[in-house]
Amino acid sequence: MSIQVFGLPISRGVAIGRAVLVASSRLDVAHYFVEPSQVDAEIERLRRARDLVAAELEALQRDMPGDAPAELSALLDVHLMLLHDESLTSATKQWIITRHYNAEWALSAQLEVLGRQFDEMEDEYLRERKADLEQVVEQMLRTMARGASQDPHDGAALGPVLPAARDFAGADALVLVANDIAPADMIQFKRSVFAGFVTDVGGKTSHTAIVARSLDIPAVVGAREASRLIRQDDWLVIDGDMGVVIVNPSPIVLEEYRFRQRQSELERVRLARLRHTPAVTLDGERIELLANIELPADAPAALEAGAVGVGLFRSEFLFMNRNGELPGEDEQFAAYRAAVEAMQGLPVTVRTVDIGADKPLERMSVHELRHEHALNPALGLRAIRWSLSEPAMFRQQIRAILRASAFGKVRILIPMVAQLREIRLTLEAVERARQQLRDAGVAFNAVDIGAMIEVPAAVMIIPTILRHFDFVSIGTNDLIQYTLAIDRADEAVADSYDPWHPAVLGMLQVTIAAARAAGKGVSVCGEMAGDPDFTELLLGMGLRSFSMHPARIASVKQRVLRSDTRKLEQRTKAVIAHEEPELEARRLLLS
Ligand code: PEP
Ligand code: MG
Repeated sequence: MSIQVFGLPISRGVAIGRAVLVASSRLDVAHYFVEPSQVDAEIERLRRARDLVAAELEALQRDMPGDAPAELSALLDVHLMLLHDESLTSATKQWIITRHYNAEWALSAQLEVLGRQFDEMEDEYLRERKADLEQVVEQMLRTMARGASQDPHDGAALGPVLPAARDFAGADALVLVANDIAPADMIQFKRSVFAGFVTDVGGKTSHTAIVARSLDIPAVVGAREASRLIRQDDWLVIDGDMGVVIVNPSPIVLEEYRFRQRQSELERVRLARLRHTPAVTLDGERIELLANIELPADAPAALEAGAVGVGLFRSEFLFMNRNGELPGEDEQFAAYRAAVEAMQGLPVTVRTVDIGADKPLERMSVHELRHEHALNPALGLRAIRWSLSEPAMFRQQIRAILRASAFGKVRILIPMVAQLREIRLTLEAVERARQQLRDAGVAFNAVDIGAMIEVPAAVMIIPTILRHFDFVSIGTNDLIQYTLAIDRADEAVADSYDPWHPAVLGMLQVTIAAARAAGKGVSVCGEMAGDPDFTELLLGMGLRSFSMHPARIASVKQRVLRSDTRKLEQRTKAVIAHEEPELEARRLLLS
């Protein structure tokens, strides 16, 4: 039966493929593809884990004290039976053989399938055996984790290089379905085979959505029941323009979407031709289109897309999922230097670590964060506040960035600045780091220091910020969240997360005007910069520098090329003054 699930469109286009469910309870299980030559070894790993668990259970049974309850022995029998059941072992093997999933992923995929079969059983006793199956699988997963010291993903902030879709046999396109995915897990799916993805939770500018958007695949988040309604291997259509997921579409619907898929492919090819066209408006204003990156490995895609530099390198992705061990100065230096060298002389803006809120250090879903940790994580110890509370770590990071400046043009960007005290402590830390490098005779070049403008307090003290910093970059994702008091990662309030809100536009206008008047650089690096619906508005406000995911550059450039900033200026004033700016913008700017 065909059903539709509605969510939030976060990345445009149409994807058609088979569902791959990633169970959220097992997100600490690595999900990756094995090379075809590794399939046998992976099956062997699975077999070994099963045999070890069986041996443990048998030993338990053997050593059970005489007065142990009879139910315990019966329970161990059930576990052993489940462990050897064909529906678990052979079927799991099939996921490895046909899909090239790693053993842990294959096992959790099969648990998902069997779990649903148990749920549908009439007999209550049999239904309750699902919990036993879960325990057996957990034991196998733990056993594999113990023996997984050479897991290719351990601490792999740079992410695995996954095989391209065409590399594995008879492949249908795959669509990732999950309740929730932590940003650090999402990054593992970079360069992976997925043609699209859908999650139950998340807002349009949650970090998971941002990373997903950077993959440039159609995606829908906040689809609430999707991971419950969709089953492994279902056929799915992801409509990333409308935010709809169609499960098992009829042939007519499928044909319609295949047509739209071809259309958007053609549009993509057409836009790609703009890659080397300079971004200059009709009235001759040169516009700087920069890239947002998460890892140094993203830099080539930024160059390829025609970016004239990196406007935001989210360095926190180097810090995630490392089991408490943070990257040292040399490791960070190597990463920043790699990004700088890859950009071939173009500027790279490294933002100091912005950890916290929906970007925890350890792998954790937004759901877990929201319910198990600080009540208001977005208002807690995050970004510059966290860095200042860890002065040694902060100085290490600054030294690493400064050292990279010896290899190209580097700028430092400070996230979440809101108070004069933070400004002073930050600039002192930078100065101390410079002095330490000078004392040690380590080379570095002049580096501009900028502040992110992403809380209303920063807008209100913009003259102070501009006095102390060389440039500012507006983080609209957080600025909207904090101005409207709407959690950017919460699908329940996603309808009210409104970039067109007059208060948000007012914040942008004030910041851009103040920076220009002070003769300081101002850029927007939030998701708004990569949304062509806002290009004219931002140009009309006087913005000349935009930083976005490389995949968005061509669409924004197309808008720039058709714009006349002199005309836009007057119209933008009218839009901002209107009580419904979006309506007015559609009439004056976007028609
Ligand atoms: C922003 O808040 O707009 C921004 C660019 O930073 P991040 O999305 O990483 O919080
Ligand atoms: Mg931010």
